[in-house]
Amino acid sequence: MYSFISDLYPICRSITGEGVRRTFREIQKYIPLDVHEVNSGTQVFDWTVPKEWNIRKAFIRTPRGEKIADLRESNLHLVSYSVPVRRTMTLAELKPQLHTLPDHPEWIPFRTSYYKEDWGFCMSHRQFEGLEEGEYEVVIDSSLEPGVLNYGELFLPGEKEDEVLISCHVCHPSLCNDNLSGIAVATFLAQKLQSMKLKNSYRFLFIPGTIGSVTWLALNEHRVSKIKNGLVLTCLGDAGGLTYKRSRQGNAEIDRAVLAVLGDAGSNFNVLDFSPYGYDERQYCSPGFNLPVGVLMRSPHGTFPEYHTSADNLEFVKQDSLEESLGTCLSIVKVLEANGVYLNQNPKCEPQLGKRGLYRSIGGEDAGRRQMAILWTLNLSDGKHDLLDIARRSGLPLEFVLEAADLLMEAGLLKAQKKV
Ligand code: ZN
Repeated sequence: MYSFISDLYPICRSITGEGVRRTFREIQKYIPLDVHEVNSGTQVFDWTVPKEWNIRKAFIRTPRGEKIADLRESNLHLVSYSVPVRRTMTLAELKPQLHTLPDHPEWIPFRTSYYKEDWGFCMSHRQFEGLEEGEYEVVIDSSLEPGVLNYGELFLPGEKEDEVLISCHVCHPSLCNDNLSGIAVATFLAQKLQSMKLKNSYRFLFIPGTIGSVTWLALNEHRVSKIKNGLVLTCLGDAGGLTYKRSRQGNAEIDRAVLAVLGDAGSNFNVLDFSPYGYDERQYCSPGFNLPVGVLMRSPHGTFPEYHTSADNLEFVKQDSLEESLGTCLSIVKVLEANGVYLNQNPKCEPQLGKRGLYRSIGGEDAGRRQMAILWTLNLSDGKHDLLDIARRSGLPLEFVLEAADLLMEAGLLKAQKKV
């Protein structure tokens, strides 16, 4: 994942254009992503698919003839979606177009102007303070023209039509935690799932932030009822602990599944309630959809100073963190695959477990707790509780409850109930 992020880092991505398509070609080296096109001007709910933006070069030439804020040195130097500009201007005219971070004078900020035609440059505050009076030449060789918005989609069919949505944004230029870590984890998760026999179907979306999810939802409204669980993946590579942001529903299967996985893993983690700010969960959890989609991340956006700056670079993301994030996603998938509502086939008094080899038959240091998992699973398999509920109510690790359900199924004492 780390080397994949290193390959994606130099690409100048935005919400549309060649940078996104190049990114999809890189992802296609790992998974068979379908790349869709939606024409500029397409109405998608209250939004309009914007013109396509492409950039060839951008820089400022100082009065001494020196090139600064050169796009070739950092993709962050140019405000994303800057309109074409070629003119000379005084420092006083130029300054309002320049963005810096006075609190972090060595870092370059990340700025965009997607929905208002404008232009600008970003640079370190230290460089900004050294600018001399005189005539500056501004060159932005960009195009902003009718074209397409692209998004990538991979559908992995399972036995059931019920879908798990995995969504990440693909629109940030050279920024590693927000956003390349999410792309890398989603790509490798999809690759792992491809080789598994799955009960649920899985839909992966690689989309430009906001406009991508709005567009997908507008064009796929007929499919949305199949989405039973979902996760937005972002900021999964920094050294902080894992954070889960609940879906708007708050206690959906995905919310309970992620919290069970994080709780059983034993590391510190944070839980955030839903709020209508953040990434594409804002669209999935808008009231007209209210999908059970949460967000898995490490340090939430805005809580680390490197967020949306040049310091969110290849040093800021760690292979260990990426691996733990991917492992967590796989554990969540395993829980979603195994979870279900079961019916006790012998609900009048306890079945006699001894004659079925299920009483005190499990050895090991957790024998007592594993036995309790059998009793709890039998008792609460009344058609109203799924295995996640049983784990939570019993206080037992989910793993023990899953094992108990398997044993009871084999013994004919449990039967799966179709989800209602
Ligand atoms: Zn961002």
